[in-house]
Amino acid sequence: MPDELWSANEYKNIWLPYCQMKTAPMPIKVAATEREFLILEDGRRVIDGIASWWTSCHGYNHPHIVAAVTKQLQRMPHVMMGGLCHDQALKLTSRLAKILPGTLDRIFLADSGSVAVEVALKIAAQYWINQGQPNRKRFICFHNAYHGDTTGAMSVCDPVDSMHAHFKGFLLEQFPASIPKSPSEFEAFETFIESKRDIVAGVIIEPMSQMWGMQFQTADQLRKIYEISKRQNMLLIADEIATGFYRTGKMFAVNHADIVPDIMCLGKALTGGFLTLSAAAATAEVYRAFHSDNASHALMHGPTFMGNPLACAAANASLDLFESNPPDDSISERFASAAKNFRGKANVSFERPNEVVDVRSLGALLAIEFAETLPSRETRDFFLERGIWLRPIDNVLYVCPSLNMPLVSLEKILTAISDFLR
Ligand SMILES: *Cc1c(COP(=O)(O)O)cnc(C)c1O
Repeated sequence: MPDELWSANEYKNIWLPYCQMKTAPMPIKVAATEREFLILEDGRRVIDGIASWWTSCHGYNHPHIVAAVTKQLQRMPHVMMGGLCHDQALKLTSRLAKILPGTLDRIFLADSGSVAVEVALKIAAQYWINQGQPNRKRFICFHNAYHGDTTGAMSVCDPVDSMHAHFKGFLLEQFPASIPKSPSEFEAFETFIESKRDIVAGVIIEPMSQMWGMQFQTADQLRKIYEISKRQNMLLIADEIATGFYRTGKMFAVNHADIVPDIMCLGKALTGGFLTLSAAAATAEVYRAFHSDNASHALMHGPTFMGNPLACAAANASLDLFESNPPDDSISERFASAAKNFRGKANVSFERPNEVVDVRSLGALLAIEFAETLPSRETRDFFLERGIWLRPIDNVLYVCPSLNMPLVSLEKILTAISDFLR
């Protein structure tokens, strides 16, 4: 029945993401947004538990960002960055350099997260090319990883989820590993990457939290992966597109382990969720391999809408908000206690019982993992009926709210989850 609905109406020309449009439920139309609410076409106000794929860190339509973007819109909506530049981009890169760890102070602005990942991979490979090691073009990546949907980014994603077998010959072949946990696994990991030293440019990781299945690492695991990468003379790329800007409880997830990656990717919440913008930041040491009298040592990349002034204005305004009002630990603490509470609760009452196998939280992230894939339509409708927007990823139900969500809204989400688990 959804198929006829889909093709009979205004949806007949749109192609929606991650969606088998023959069988998927119709999307919910949003007419407006306000703070933590989605205002649906039929007038319902729904609490957004996902913050639009974790972008909307200050809530929607924050007046400070609206004002900054509006002002910039009237002055200059866009200008190319080839041969030109502008104050918003300069201001943003200098502010980011100040808050990024270590000497991550050379910042390439791109237009989306996936492109920042492409740029990071390219920087890493060219870092070695520029130093006479042209064979080091491949990457160590991790199972369960998500780094974006462009082909380079897809090649370093989880091999099963991003269907490497399906796209064989189309995607670059990389070296996926499991995130090591035990001493013997760390040893095996080091042996594995040591064997690839001559052909690998670097290791790419989502620090602290892999967003696709919300699998967390400990700070200790992350630090050890960093140390092994350094010992094996590989660049470490931290993809902080999801974790950056306090999502995991600290400004950046790498801050938990007190490490400085060689390259870091930012996106998503960078503009407070207003506009599309991303960044690939490199350390002074990485940048040194490009800074040369040889023209061929330059980084040859330049998305048309890179460093868009509106997006940079939004990002600068978002940083103002973090400066004047950094998120406190109230959501982190509430999620930690909720996780404790939910742990062990079992049996969702759809067609078949579905065990909760794990409940975990990290900063403003809460994930409830089930033994089996959750029925997406029923799960969505269960929460919508309670005025909440949540959407599972396969077998993981997760909450990823705006970082300033009022506790009343947060409690509504947690109560609904509690009902769901009953
Ligand atoms: C969303 C995401 C990306 C891709 O960003 P897009 O803006 O969707 O291209 C890459 N890496 C991580 C960790 C992400 O969460």
